[in-house]
Amino acid sequence: MQFERVGVVGAGTMGSGIAQCLALSGIDVVLIDVTREALERGMGGLSGSLARLVSKEALTREEADRALARIEASMDYARLAEVDLVIEAATENFDLKTRILKQVDAIVRQSTVIASNTSSISITALAAMLTNPYRFIGMHFFNPVPVLPLVEIIRGLQTSDEVARAVGELAQRIGKTPIAVKNSPGFVVNRILVPMINEAFLVLAEGVATAEEIDAGMKLGANHPIGPLALADLIGLDVCLAVMNVLAGDFGDPKYRTSPLLREMVAAGHLGRKTKQGVYSYA
Ligand code: NAD
Repeated sequence: MQFERVGVVGAGTMGSGIAQCLALSGIDVVLIDVTREALERGMGGLSGSLARLVSKEALTREEADRALARIEASMDYARLAEVDLVIEAATENFDLKTRILKQVDAIVRQSTVIASNTSSISITALAAMLTNPYRFIGMHFFNPVPVLPLVEIIRGLQTSDEVARAVGELAQRIGKTPIAVKNSPGFVVNRILVPMINEAFLVLAEGVATAEEIDAGMKLGANHPIGPLALADLIGLDVCLAVMNVLAGDFGDPKYRTSPLLREMVAAGHLGRKTKQGVYSYA
């Protein structure tokens, strides 16, 4: 199984970052989105990211130009007909992903591997939508994709050994470190990380310490590079709440009780850096 031409569906934060890493590793990319604006935004972000690498001398101008030339941005799913792998990185929504995967399934070759970058949806359930569920797998990248080395390689119940091996090798080829994970709510990282963030909101709401003190405590006492509340602002409070809701719903265990303060802040639209107001203010 060789992946020389890869389709990425969704040109948002994650899809554009994934396309960048693939192209920089010499892989041809077809980047698909539904609107011209979304493609322009994705390609604009990607070009800006490459330009920053050039200015830091982490990349030559020629390498950046070659990477850009390897990416074809398109609104036409038919462009996926010749790819060896499709990585779906569209909006997190089960019905939307099901629709996209069925559309991709009808276009690609029988041998094409299909992956999803979902943060919370069951890989086993998505695989069940495809004609060949054994060739479906989770490839969970982390944000920002060009910076963070981890990829969780998530096997659904149906995923074949060959597909898991090939996708793990691809992650290494593009400079990432894969870890093998079985399909389970929150996979590994979010299952451990997001309840910790939720706990920080419970501690904050109880008045045990201020936000600054909670973050300083976890940085200086647990050697974390960033405090849990600053991290929540970076990830997006809505995303943290969505992951908690998946853990609570799928496990049905009261230990995943969500912080009322977290819910309150999401209801107020205080989602973190992206709205310039979260636990901290970024105005
Ligand atoms: P985003 O909102 O930045 O981008 C999603 C893109 O999907 C948009 O450009 C949208 O136009 C496009 N899209 C919607 N419907 C489409 C369709 N039918 N066909 C093609 N494209 C379509 O979202 P994101 O943050 O990049 O997240 C994408 C996926 O990655 C989600 O499943 C998310 O859970 C997952 N993820 C996100 C993060 C993160 O920190 N943002 C981290 C890991 C995984």
